[in-house]
Amino acid sequence: MPGLRGFLEDLERRGELLRVEEELSPRFEIPAVLRALDGGPAVLFERVEGFDSKVVGGVCATRGRICRALGIEPGAFYQRLLHAVEHPTPVEVVEDGPVKEVVEEASLDRLPVLTHFKGDPGPYITSGILYARSPDGSVENVSFHRILILDDKRATLRIVPRHLYRLCQEARGEVEALDVSVSLGLHPALMVAAASPAPFGVNEFEVANTLMGGGLRLVECEHVDALAPADAELVLEGRLLLDEEAPEGPFVDLTGTYDIQRPQPVVEFVGVMHRRDYLYQALLPSGSEHRLLMGMPREARIWEYVRNIVPTVRGVNLTMGGCGWLHCVVSFKKFREGDPKNVLMAVFAAHPSLKHAVVVDEDIDPFDMEMVEWAIATRFRGDEDLLIIPHVRVSSLDPASDQERELGCKVGIDATRPLSKPEEDFRRAEIPVSGRVRRLLEGLKRLGE
Ligand code: MN
Repeated sequence: MPGLRGFLEDLERRGELLRVEEELSPRFEIPAVLRALDGGPAVLFERVEGFDSKVVGGVCATRGRICRALGIEPGAFYQRLLHAVEHPTPVEVVEDGPVKEVVEEASLDRLPVLTHFKGDPGPYITSGILYARSPDGSVENVSFHRILILDDKRATLRIVPRHLYRLCQEARGEVEALDVSVSLGLHPALMVAAASPAPFGVNEFEVANTLMGGGLRLVECEHVDALAPADAELVLEGRLLLDEEAPEGPFVDLTGTYDIQRPQPVVEFVGVMHRRDYLYQALLPSGSEHRLLMGMPREARIWEYVRNIVPTVRGVNLTMGGCGWLHCVVSFKKFREGDPKNVLMAVFAAHPSLKHAVVVDEDIDPFDMEMVEWAIATRFRGDEDLLIIPHVRVSSLDPASDQERELGCKVGIDATRPLSKPEEDFRRAEIPVSGRVRRLLEGLKRLGE
């Protein structure tokens, strides 16, 4: 089933969906539960104070779930995503779909939009993907944007200087507004595609369609000239005003700290389409889901860059502690003494927001942070293996940097063993395991499960 519902059914069968029957408010209460259970099961809030619809959150909160939604093993994610970005599949536009069960005038007050954190300026839609096309129809784009509700019809949204920003720049002067759809309650493949670093001009709906093996269908919106997934739970139809701004933020971003307030464009919502009993999809800012959806597509790009330097890359981890964005561990097979620093430079080139990178030998699992630290403890020397790049572009989200000019410092750590000393000096000592010890340990492990 191509929608969110089929995926949730699968999660429930596996015991990865928690139903909360207690009535809770979308203001702080539901976010507090999502935060407490972050990285665990998806959570379905059955009763939402003041609203008829249910709220679901944490759908993509683990790597395993994202990969299962794409029908792949975790090791295949990078290749699969890069393939989809390079081979988008045109999407069939159909007359009707579940999302058109109810079509009405927009009323943002009727949606259970969450207010997440203490200092938030209001309710924020955080799981919506926005579709827009250029006035001549030649370029289509789908991307995530956080959306701050201003009143019953209007909102302001953060548009970082990427594809939608460019679409708006090019449309300014030609038209006063761009018709857009904002879709929520989606199959994870759509969320991964919307977060992917596809080049300008690539329609992310088509990337999602490749990821889904051709199962995606779109519908025309009823009130605006835009497309949206036929199986979405909820679609907001709006006009993105090109000459009107409102203060957006402060917003808690990936780092869990507040991003600054800025003037940002206003979107006026004119219509809404939804399933009769639609699920409102929540996405906790700075939670695992946020970090994975931001980080995993970047890992794919880093993996691609590193493969240009060395043939064997075991894995790339934009770590959770590093906000899925600022810290990266890469494990690869080193052939020459100079490989690690070349790999570090490739990693920084692949992801300009990155702040700290650690490279390790292929015997170190990049997702096991205790082993990564062990490699730093036993294979790294500060005077030889440290790469410091001062006065360089970093993430605007890093509070330790000059955020206005996006200037900071990058640090690379080469925690691979030097080739000048024998490999045995760096290997973890083993204890021989006899047949009966193996059987004993397997039995104990089963008991523990
Ligand atoms: Mn794009």
